[in-house]
Amino acid sequence: MRNNSCASASIWLLCTALSGCATPQYAIRPTPTPDESEWVVDLERTISAYQAQELERQGSRLIHAGERLWGFDVASVLRRLSRVTERPSLPYRVFLLQDRDPNAVALADGRVYVTSGMLNYLSSRGSREDELAAIVSHELAHTVAQHLIRRYRQLQQQQLLMAVVGVGTAIASQQGGSSIGSLANDAASLVTSVANSAYSQDQELEADQLGARYMARAGYDPYSAVAVLRDFRRFAPGGIFLSTHPDPERRAQDLERFLTETTPASSTPASVEPQRQRLKAAQRLYPAGSLSWQNLQRQLDDLDALD
Ligand SMILES: [Zn+2]
Repeated sequence: MRNNSCASASIWLLCTALSGCATPQYAIRPTPTPDESEWVVDLERTISAYQAQELERQGSRLIHAGERLWGFDVASVLRRLSRVTERPSLPYRVFLLQDRDPNAVALADGRVYVTSGMLNYLSSRGSREDELAAIVSHELAHTVAQHLIRRYRQLQQQQLLMAVVGVGTAIASQQGGSSIGSLANDAASLVTSVANSAYSQDQELEADQLGARYMARAGYDPYSAVAVLRDFRRFAPGGIFLSTHPDPERRAQDLERFLTETTPASSTPASVEPQRQRLKAAQRLYPAGSLSWQNLQRQLDDLDALD
């Protein structure tokens, strides 16, 4: 997508290669099929070791099984959720990071970090385990969907494109001396770039949907993720968690729509009438008779049968 910040031809090429320049549209995302080939797992470990060093410098510490913090058994929430992901065998463990900013992050190798600010914030809402599960499951989704590996591949493609542009410029100006050697396949600088890069907005929305799936599979109420997102609106947009994520209201709307369109009527914990209203609101977004409209109508019919 053409974007104001993508003025020159070469930069626009890079923007088409990177999803960051596009405004993500609502879509139901497929569940991921993780690539656990040796080089991918090695790369995930390398990037994670680099990131963990920085988090250790900031004073992170392991949260032990059975340990209660702000009313939460954080390790047990992580264990319950990680088992139902598409990567149940990673060595998952959770760390506490002393930081007043409500934040959480997961590394590619199964390490998850939750800040004291996040636990304090969730505790102010009543230490509801479903709400902690909403935060943890979103972070796990980044790991399971291998968003860092996708980012690595995008940056690799970007470096190659830059190298090609560099060669073109060198040939045009008769300077010779291609820059391919210095730009392409520079693995060390790629690892650093990936480790320091944010996820795309598209990946954030995907993580919301995957996280909600894991919550439902683990027996948590996925609608509590919508409630937490709606409450996030009261934070200033300067916080790390919010500045790297799409607008919380946009996320809440997308997630609510996803849950309405994918959750079978009988397994939704809410009462029948609110479900009926949500389904009707979602149905109004589609032309009458379209596939999505029919899918929602089937769920409305199921609800009527429950009455
Ligand atoms: Zn995220």
